[in-house]
Amino acid sequence: MSKKTFVTGAVALAAAILPLTAGMATAAPAVTTVYYDASGAPSFASAISSGAANWNSSVSNVQLRPSSSGASLRYVEGNDPQGSYADTDGHGTGTIFIDYTQAKQYDIVRITAHETGHALGLPDHYEGPCSELMSGGGPGTSCHNAKPNSTEASRVQSLWANGLVSNGVGTQRIYG
Ligand SMILES: [Zn+2]
Repeated sequence: MSKKTFVTGAVALAAAILPLTAGMATAAPAVTTVYYDASGAPSFASAISSGAANWNSSVSNVQLRPSSSGASLRYVEGNDPQGSYADTDGHGTGTIFIDYTQAKQYDIVRITAHETGHALGLPDHYEGPCSELMSGGGPGTSCHNAKPNSTEASRVQSLWANGLVSNGVGTQRIYG
């Protein structure tokens, strides 16, 4: 009798724990939201929004959302002889600079999406084809692809699999 009571109690306990355990095991990784402020680059507001949307539709572990306060990523515009750049830790923090001259030559959404790619952790790969976002200006001014390919999206997915944790890399300036 006491044994049966024990078993019943154990089953009840397991039933109570199981939903929580199952929920934890099957839940998708938490989405990390990177808030950005594009007010410093008013000429490129539309392109920045489109570039962010291209990333948002390609990855799920990190999403970019505009915010006027508390943003970790900001966009600015101006002239720099070396062109556009990203000052970033590669993990959602930093400043993206859009160069006017470059914006007249290259696809603007490709530029903003590319620089955003740096803020999400991707390096340049100029040797790549137009279908690669991080080939940047490599394929020339006729390239209008502004979306990451599946390899680039997978890379960002894995970089953000554990959320907003430091990658141990300080902020660096990546031109181009
Ligand atoms: Zn680049």
